[in-house]
Amino acid sequence: MTRLLIDEVQQAALSRHALDDYPQECCGLLIGASAPNGDLQVHEIVPSPNLDVAGGARAFEVDPAVILDWQKRTRGTGQRILGHYHSHPDGPAQPSATDLARAWEPGQVWLILSVLGGLPGEGAMPALMGPIVAYRYAESGLDKAFEPLELAVPDAR
Ligand SMILES: [Zn+2]
Repeated sequence: MTRLLIDEVQQAALSRHALDDYPQECCGLLIGASAPNGDLQVHEIVPSPNLDVAGGARAFEVDPAVILDWQKRTRGTGQRILGHYHSHPDGPAQPSATDLARAWEPGQVWLILSVLGGLPGEGAMPALMGPIVAYRYAESGLDKAFEPLELAVPDAR
């Protein structure tokens, strides 16, 4: 299985964004590069505003201005936009039917953070992080699918 290498500091930044935006979905970009062995190495986490205000807690749209900015910044650097991340507030750590319907670019990484809890009202429980999972979108003819990636912490040097 292809590995997505993402260190503890980056995972903590993702979790922080997901908790801060709860009960709304958060989203952002994963910047990085492919290693010679095929591993995907994340180098930078780029939070984006979620532009899907109508979708609220059940949809996300990464700001196209953020995408354009990082396409420019990574040009000629060997790095690229590997894909993006978003959260599922009180939802499972797996792609939703909406995610599959909206997937368009084969090879893109989809990282999903499940956020749980956060009961409303007096004495509210703080939201807690659920599992983090990652997939790569693939197309074969008319078939659309998310292939699981193995999340791994890069080796210390
Ligand atoms: Zn989703």
